[in-house]
This record gives sequence, structure tokens and C-alpha cells, in this order.
Amino acid sequence: MSELFKLSGCEFWFITGSQFLYGEETLEQVRKNSEIIVNSLNNTGLPCAVIFKGVMKTAEEITGLMNLANYDNSCAGIITFCHTFSPSKMWINGFGLLQKPCLHLHTQFNRNIPDADIDMDYMNLHQSAHGDREHGFIAARMGVSRKIVAGYWQDGEVHNEITAFMRAAAGFKAGRELKVMRFGDNMREVAVTEGDKVEAQKKFGWQVNTHPVGELAERIRGIPEARVDALMDEYSRKYIINTENTESIREQARMEAAMKELLEENHCCAYTNTFEDLYGMEQLPGLASQRLMEAGYGYGGEGDWKTSALVYIMKVMASGLNTGTSFMEDYTYDLTKGSELILGAHMLEVCPTIADSSKSKPKIETHILGIGGKSPPARLVFEGKAGKALNVSLIDMGGRMRLIAQEVECVKPVYEMPKLPVARVMWKPLPDFKTAVSAWLLAGGAHHTVLSYGVTAEIMRDYARMAGLEFVHLSADTNLMKLEQELALSDMIWRLKCLNG
Ligand code: MN
Repeated sequence: MSELFKLSGCEFWFITGSQFLYGEETLEQVRKNSEIIVNSLNNTGLPCAVIFKGVMKTAEEITGLMNLANYDNSCAGIITFCHTFSPSKMWINGFGLLQKPCLHLHTQFNRNIPDADIDMDYMNLHQSAHGDREHGFIAARMGVSRKIVAGYWQDGEVHNEITAFMRAAAGFKAGRELKVMRFGDNMREVAVTEGDKVEAQKKFGWQVNTHPVGELAERIRGIPEARVDALMDEYSRKYIINTENTESIREQARMEAAMKELLEENHCCAYTNTFEDLYGMEQLPGLASQRLMEAGYGYGGEGDWKTSALVYIMKVMASGLNTGTSFMEDYTYDLTKGSELILGAHMLEVCPTIADSSKSKPKIETHILGIGGKSPPARLVFEGKAGKALNVSLIDMGGRMRLIAQEVECVKPVYEMPKLPVARVMWKPLPDFKTAVSAWLLAGGAHHTVLSYGVTAEIMRDYARMAGLEFVHLSADTNLMKLEQELALSDMIWRLKCLNG
């Protein structure tokens, strides 16, 4: 049986750099101070544990520890800090071997210089300012991908930056273990949902494989009625049943149970399907896919395995925040001059974690689906909540992938839209509609995205660095002229990187 990834199961190894030059007493103080920093970090509400792994004095110690970090499955990344000077030739072999995400914490044990007491002993002990420069140099020289967090270890800003790194690293680790189940291929003739699955597995670890729709259809028919009854009970507790068509809901319950079984049996945490390949099935999964997304599975429509995997890992990144993350699609616009909005929805599959449940629970309704030629599927209909969010797209540029993150401001939908038979969200992209959509088109962002109220651009930037991905951040600061230049430059850089393997 597969289990969805647990962020709380990740740990981060804290490694303090030093050397033998200063004598036992100083090294003992370095160890004690490092422990104080680590204990303090663990009491600030970071999402994962920080484990102190000792003071490094030799190349052999560093190499040994990096090998252990690579090998230890609970280690999701390392945090390095040089309390004293730690000559960096000692780090070359270890950094060369390191396969886990790395954060360089540039801090110092004491916040202030002790005016009356500072002497040469103090200078020897508290020299992060120059020890970390030596450390930064070798990482730069070797091209070690890392996040640098600078500031005092008790400051909230530092904790927030470490938190973002941890969430990104957890998503990266979840991706290295991810299997994506494909029912049916990509939607016919669509370009943006295509991609190089071999490259994705190499870069992100995602294993994307096909499974026969016929097997799913057979499994659906075999779901016992008692299982369907239990799900129907759960639906009536959690949602408002707003349809007479009970049989359509029961069919969705069968699909939910059958897909969950197949996902678990095959150790998959994300899946795709397509309305063009439902042979042997009564309906397109609507409610069923919404429920599985709500439970933490990744989903992408029309064979979009890239977005499905991204939904899953962004759900991992946002774990515990209670904010909401969903598969999304830019559908239609409201072009009221000066207050333009994007209406996001999908044919059926929007995750109820993004529902505004303050006034009403999501409603289960059945409506005829205009495409696909199957019977009317049950689906959850609701309004998305207001608030800041991030809309993220992953596209294959040929030889490399590009991650685009657009900051948006979701609003309570400004229309009732009583005839719209699907869940809906409305948002304003930053800095303004005209700039934002032009930038999105310029960068090649897809119509399929992941909309998250919890995952920040900082987390996605950290993730892109770990995965070796091109990252385009569209925000309140987007300037079209600069973006055009950045994209041209970036294209050249990435083509060179691809040439060098
Ligand atoms: Mn779609």
C-alpha cells in the first residue's frame, strides 16, 4: 500500500564547519553553541525537525557525513553554518558527493559585539563573517546549488526563510518518490500538456506510467455496494446533496473507491485521465477526482501528468497550513475596464480544499457534460475563497522545463453565475491584468495550473533551484520590457546548460 508523503517525517541535518586549529576548548564551545542554535530553531514552529550532526574538523568527517546524508532516507536536506573558519578544501569532496538540497545559514552565535570584553579569543570563536565567506566561495566555485539565509538565528525572517526551504525540500523529496498513474494519453493535438517523461524523471524523480482504462472500468464494476453506501454517508455529512440523481453520485463513489485502490496498489500518489478515453466507464470522474485531490492526491485533466505531479508536490509543500491547493484552469475573463478578473474552473475537477466554506458547504450536483458523450457526472460545486494565492505552471521548452509562478489576488466571485455547473474561482493577477496576462503568454504559461493559497513564490523558487529548473516569477514587480530581456537571456543560458548535459 502506498502512503501519501508526510512533511513531518522529513528531517534536516545541521552541520557546523570548523577545524582543529583552535584547540579542544574552543571546539567544545562551538559544539555547545551549535546545539543551542539547533534547539532554538526546533522551538520556533519549523515544519520539520533540525538534527545537529556535529562539528566538522576534517575532510574525512565532512565526506563521511555527506555520504550518510545521501544515504539516509529521512534526511531531506542539510543546513551548513561555519561558527569559525573552516577551510573549504576540506569541503570539496563532500560537496562533490552531496545529492540533497543544501541551505547555507549565514548567522553568528552572538547578536552583538561585547564592547568591553572583545579580545582575540572572542575573534577566533565568533568568525562566521569570514568562515562563511570561505564556505560561500567553494560552493560558488563548485556550482553547488544552495539557498543562502542570512541573518540572526533568532529572527522570524530567518525562520520563515528556513521554513520555505524545508517545504520546498519536502516537495522535492516527495517528487523523488512519486509515481504518477496515467489513464489514457494526452488530449489529442494539445501541445502544452505534452512533455518529456524521461527528462522529468531524471530531473524530478517523477515516474510517469500508463495503466489500462479497462482495468479501472472493471475495478469500478467490482466495488461492493456497502463501500458505496459508506461513501454516500460521508458525502451527505460533508457536502450538500443538491441533486435527485443519486445513481450518478453512487457511480462517482465507485470510481473514487476503484481509483483509490489502484493508486494504492501501484504506489501512485498522482494520476491523470482524459474525457477522450473513458471506454467502459459510465462517467468522467468529477466528484471522484475532487475527493481524491482533497485527500492529497495529485490530479491533472486531459492527460496532463506534469500538472498532476505538481498538484501533488505542492500539496506536500503546503501540508499543515490548511490553506488549499488545486488543479486549475484559466477559463474565461471579465474585462470590466480597470477591474479585470480571470475566472478559473475546470470541466469538473477543482479541489474542495480551496472552497470558501464560510457560508455553505460545497454542493454535489449533476449536469450534462457537453463533451465526452457519457452520462451526467456528479461534481462538487462551490466558490473559491478570497485571498493571496500563487498560480503555477510547468512547461516543457524542449530540452528543459520552465516553471512559471504568477502571484494573484483571489476575490469572492463577483457574479452568482447560477447556470455555471462547476466550482469557480476569480482572481486578479499581479501587477495588473494587462501586464500579467501578457507576461504569462510571453513566458509560455499553460492554461492548466496549480492554484495554491499556501505555497509561496519563495518556496517554488527554492524548489526550482533544487530541481535544476528555469524559474520565472511574475509578481507585483513584473515589467514587460525587462521580462522580455530576461527570457531571452535565460533561454540562451539554459540552451548552453543543456549542451553541457
Ligand atoms: Mn483542462
